[in-house]
Amino acid sequence: MGQCRVNEKPKKLKVLYIAGLGRNGGTLLDRIMGELDGFFSMGEFKFVWQKGMLANELCNCGKPFRECSFWTEVQERAFGGREPGDPVQAAGHGDREQTAEPGDPVQAAEHGDEQQTAGPSDPVQADGLGALGRAAEPVDPVQADAPGAAGRAAEPINATWAFEVSERIDRTRSLPSLLARSSSAAADRELRRYADLVGRLHFATAEVSGAGVLVNSSKFAAHALVLAEVPGLELYVLHLVRDSRAAAFSWTKTKRKPEVVTGEAFLKRQSAAATASQWIYRNLACALIRGRCHKYKLARYEDFAERPREFVGDLVRWIDAGEPELPFVDESTVRLGESHTQSGNPVRFEVGEIPIRIDDEWQTAMPTADKRLVTWLTWPLLMRYGYPLRPTEQR
Ligand SMILES: [Zn+2]
Repeated sequence: MGQCRVNEKPKKLKVLYIAGLGRNGGTLLDRIMGELDGFFSMGEFKFVWQKGMLANELCNCGKPFRECSFWTEVQERAFGGREPGDPVQAAGHGDREQTAEPGDPVQAAEHGDEQQTAGPSDPVQADGLGALGRAAEPVDPVQADAPGAAGRAAEPINATWAFEVSERIDRTRSLPSLLARSSSAAADRELRRYADLVGRLHFATAEVSGAGVLVNSSKFAAHALVLAEVPGLELYVLHLVRDSRAAAFSWTKTKRKPEVVTGEAFLKRQSAAATASQWIYRNLACALIRGRCHKYKLARYEDFAERPREFVGDLVRWIDAGEPELPFVDESTVRLGESHTQSGNPVRFEVGEIPIRIDDEWQTAMPTADKRLVTWLTWPLLMRYGYPLRPTEQR
């Protein structure tokens, strides 16, 4: 009789997910965490299909995505060596331990175009297993002849398919259905296939980098719920908020996107009122997902920017990730090296010794009317997060 160590649970891959509204300092924090031994910075990885595989934008290492050796190897491990954009027949996770755990069947949103993947009613839906532990569907010829296909996804897909699904699922408007688990069998199957692909990329990233903690700063709460569907991941959600007025001011500024090399492109700009609205529902959305992750933590950008070294140290302890040396040369200056971070604020391209200081330009440069409008629209949450309502009281 072989030894049976029933008390030894398979170790899960930790993912630190930075959530919130963009321009909250999440990209810089992602880069800093990626400097820690045992961590890897993925950036806003939910955009990898569109910006990496399809648009071939620059990786942080300076090479276009499809020429980056790191991501090439990750894709080979995840999908069996197909070229990005080619039909990818999803393969098993090799010798990686997969731990499909019993749980409620997860159902996706009413996405409106379920015809894309709609098929005969799937009797496996009710089995309550995670996507990677499900049996093949009889209608799927790809799986039917696949040896040892117990952990295989359903049918050939490609980056275009994944991008289109991401546009439907990884959005705040999908959150109610994702949380309520109320959708059709076809939408449920689409979510499982998509989560499977996202999971493969995460496990392959960990294998190639050797990291035990991946940092994903995609920000969107819905994408965190996709990650929560991947067996074998342990999700730590850091909900990073920033003063709504600072966020609104930042979204009105013009910033070039250095990762776009074919012509010039700029970060999206929008009005202060539009940002105020997004700030409310994106932050509320982040609070709603706390029950679906391993650990959830609310933190403020301003606390990170004022005491970055202390903030990062607290974060490492919260993740229970040992005692790696922190990449700071003093309390507020960080040393950043080369990385393979995908997508995010242009700050992700900075290397060398970077002084971190709070960006409070909005206090003096933001039009008074915008300050008042954003304060009026967002005051309940501003108070909840501990921000003073009168901007002049801030620092
Ligand atoms: Zn790279």
